[in-house]
Amino acid sequence: MPLYLRIIAALVLGVAVGALLGEQAGALATPAKLILRLLAALAPPLILFAVIRALVMAELPPGTAPRLAGLLLLNTTVAIFIGLATANLLQPGTWHEVGPTPPEAATQALPGPFEQFIDNIPRSLLGPLTDGGSVISVIILALAFGVALRSLRDRPLRNVRDAIDVGFDTLIVILRWVIEIIPFGIFGIIASIVGTKGFSAFIPLGGFVLAVVIALLLQALWYLTRIRLGSWARPGYILRGTRDALVMAFSTASSTATMPVTYACLRDRVGLRERSASLGALVGANFNNDGTALYEAMAALFIAQVLGMELSLTQQLLVVVTSMAASVGAAGIPEAGLVTMTMVFMAVGLPVEFIAVLFSVDWFLDRCRTTINVMGDINVSALLDGKLRPESTLHEGKLAHAESGA
Ligand code: ASP
Repeated sequence: MPLYLRIIAALVLGVAVGALLGEQAGALATPAKLILRLLAALAPPLILFAVIRALVMAELPPGTAPRLAGLLLLNTTVAIFIGLATANLLQPGTWHEVGPTPPEAATQALPGPFEQFIDNIPRSLLGPLTDGGSVISVIILALAFGVALRSLRDRPLRNVRDAIDVGFDTLIVILRWVIEIIPFGIFGIIASIVGTKGFSAFIPLGGFVLAVVIALLLQALWYLTRIRLGSWARPGYILRGTRDALVMAFSTASSTATMPVTYACLRDRVGLRERSASLGALVGANFNNDGTALYEAMAALFIAQVLGMELSLTQQLLVVVTSMAASVGAAGIPEAGLVTMTMVFMAVGLPVEFIAVLFSVDWFLDRCRTTINVMGDINVSALLDGKLRPESTLHEGKLAHAESGA
């Protein structure tokens, strides 16, 4: 069963069980807390490896790096500002006075030994290896990495690239396991919220979904405007040429899985020059996750609103900077943004437990932001291709000729 169907099933089941159990369902919030702790432990090394990897692997033709970097930085900054402005304007976190707070009952209801065991789940990868680390945490780490590395053990290590790849892929294997158990977390957190707070707790969440979708649409508008002004290909033509990639991004929630399709669409259907298509879609895809950046900034602001916390200007700036870093570190796989979001929350002192509340809508919002992530790559490719239309699109009678109007 695909992940999103399992998540929807978990949602439905969570609502039913929460309504049935009432207050008692509070204790069901525990799995979500565990998942969050695992995600938070994986986030720093994942960002570290993702950024190092992107920098080491990028094959940039001479002279293109500053242009590409400029385009990426501008797009991501615009995305984050659109996100923050929308969240500030719509204030979805204040739509109902009872926010979707995770029930406190969860920890209090835990029996002693169980709680002790849970406490051994590592909070970070290096923590257990330092002075105060517990043996059980070390064993858990050893088990995770041992088993994850089994699937990669025959990989030859010939150079630094291979070493970085193995490090990154090992983390991704472990991350996939954690993602597999997310439906259980969702089931528990939904049951506990419905049981202890009722359905009204979800009103702000509906507002949040709406606000994110509006902000992502605005970002799409920004891309299309930029394309209209800076590329030979018209926005409508680009959208038609790349619709396979966009639909695939929405249906897989993975920009990495979509990458080859994006590249093929840009080169073969739109007719961009090979270099622009590969720079935007293949190189850019590693750094460029504007949808994720926008989402993380909005999530931080939303939870701050729910908690009635005022984020100072410095804190909002911190949100901007960490969201930027987090979006680069977010691997292009489903739910990866949730992992790096833990870093954004920690940077501004927001309680990470609240991310659990977002699990329940993330299966949908992940698809939306992945589509924007891919659209960002398309945008960069189209802009790099410039205003001068490639010869090939003139002579080969491609779709371009009839439709671009250039
Ligand atoms: N799923 C997104 C992507 O593949 C990453 C994220 O979770 O934000 O681009």
